Amino acid sequence: MKSYDKLLLENKAWAQERIKADPDFFNRLAALQTPEFLWIGCSDSRVPANEITGTKPGEIFVHRNIANLVLHNDTNCLSVLDYAVTHLEVKHIIVCGHYGCGGIKAAMSNRNYNQVLNMWLRNIKDVFRLHQTELDGIEDEDKKYERLTELNVQEQVMHLAKTSIIQRAWKNRQAPDLHGWVYGLKDGIINPVFEMKANTRIDPLYEYDDL
Ligand SMILES: [Zn+2]
Repeated sequence: MKSYDKLLLENKAWAQERIKADPDFFNRLAALQTPEFLWIGCSDSRVPANEITGTKPGEIFVHRNIANLVLHNDTNCLSVLDYAVTHLEVKHIIVCGHYGCGGIKAAMSNRNYNQVLNMWLRNIKDVFRLHQTELDGIEDEDKKYERLTELNVQEQVMHLAKTSIIQRAWKNRQAPDLHGWVYGLKDGIINPVFEMKANTRIDPLYEYDDL
């Protein structure tokens, strides 16, 4: 059996299990999705959004990329954000990084990963530079790595608040709240590190009028 054949077999077993436990499961989900949460996480295979939060299909709208970045010129991430916020009207957005993130580690190194990855990781180097004073004060390399992971999540949450998508939703429906979490690969525990409730004031430079 090929490795991917096992996935298809497991899928059949899983679908049968679901129907056995709840005959209406797929009919209900096929008709409508009303997730309360948007999850922006790392692509890392060890951080599956549903599994680590004990949520089921239909409960979390998910976007993942390397090191969970929210970039103002990433039409993929922003389309997900717009759909989740404007159309699905999610109540909470969670940016979830994780300790031991390869993307963060790569950005802290001087290694050349060539064209596309260098471009992506540059955004994390910019987070480092923004917090250079604090990070340079941490001597232990592992602690510095952990702190950059937390600060990266914080910056990405702030990037969300800088979008007209979020600002319009805050004005119209006083939601969603924005959460920055970091998941621990070693213990499976999520550490909440940053939060911006709806209508938190941001740097006026980034505020839009006429929303
Ligand atoms: Zn990662």
